[in-house]
Amino acid sequence: MRSSTGWAVKSATARERIMVPPDKADGGGKRPGEFELIEKIFAPLTVGADGAYALKDDAALYRPASGCETVLTVDAMVAGVHFLPEDPPEGVARKLLRVNLSDLAAKGAVPRGYLLTTVWTEGTSLEWIEAFASGLGNDQVRYGVTLWGGDTVKTPGPLTLSLTAIGEVAEGQMIRRGGARPGDDLYITGTVGDGGLGLMVLQDKLRGLNAEDAAFLSRRYREPDPRTDVGPRLCGVAHAALDVSDGLMADLGHICEVSGVGARVEMDLVPLSEAARAALEMDEDLVAQIAGGGDDYEILFTAPAEKAGAIADIAAETGVPVTRIGSILRADKGLSTVDGSGRQIPLKQLGYRHF
Ligand SMILES: [Mg+2]
Repeated sequence: MRSSTGWAVKSATARERIMVPPDKADGGGKRPGEFELIEKIFAPLTVGADGAYALKDDAALYRPASGCETVLTVDAMVAGVHFLPEDPPEGVARKLLRVNLSDLAAKGAVPRGYLLTTVWTEGTSLEWIEAFASGLGNDQVRYGVTLWGGDTVKTPGPLTLSLTAIGEVAEGQMIRRGGARPGDDLYITGTVGDGGLGLMVLQDKLRGLNAEDAAFLSRRYREPDPRTDVGPRLCGVAHAALDVSDGLMADLGHICEVSGVGARVEMDLVPLSEAARAALEMDEDLVAQIAGGGDDYEILFTAPAEKAGAIADIAAETGVPVTRIGSILRADKGLSTVDGSGRQIPLKQLGYRHF
């Protein structure tokens, strides 16, 4: 074991001895040791981040810009639970990074860097790891983040990945879930329902779409588009925000609960992609999937009426559609959805079971 090699190589090795049968502890010679993995595959992902010390120290150093606070979030993905072992590794990497960047964006934070824990299995090939790292590398350029550190261990269990994303926001400006006020307008970025429908396509539960629409929806599930351009511009504009991962109605329920307010969604205003519209034309019951399915990673936020102009400007400047879909009401009004003629649509019909 080499000392002072960083990225917790020491502890990784110690843990491998505990968790992996001795005859398998060296990886069977199928791929380089953990030290080489870190140096050859992961250290290049730190380029540009001086405080990462090329993964050659025990910890990274980070100083947010003057007047800024640090925003932290973490998400883990387990093979067989959050992705399929046969999914392309580049795509797994993109999703892992992007779901975290989406959380930062929803808080108004600018992403800066990330920490990565990789838990490999005996079956994880060098090719898989290289492709995974290259997926991270491409997205790093796209979103302006770098790897700052992490840990790599082996397990007899399923391949597991955990990423902690770190961002910055001006002091006191992080957008919380709890700031919604009665009278606020309710907005969403992008389109709603693509992620949930995409999962149905991948599970072969949604047939009859043309190939282009099916591919679009699958991609939206596999590779979300975190709204990193819109998020930071919502500071000082939005009263409350979160990213839609559990489903539009469930996540709106989270805002209402924490803010102590009610809300009404006008279903006719909810923005749909062409592909989602095509799916809905085939089967109108899919409205439940659109309102209740998760994995959209769009930002759902509330803002007072006087910010409507500023919000239109943000949409124009970023090229990301931002649509008003309803209103925030007093808590005693509860959570409701109405159709184009103002008639209530039962929440149960929309796959919403929280209340
Ligand atoms: Mg979230």
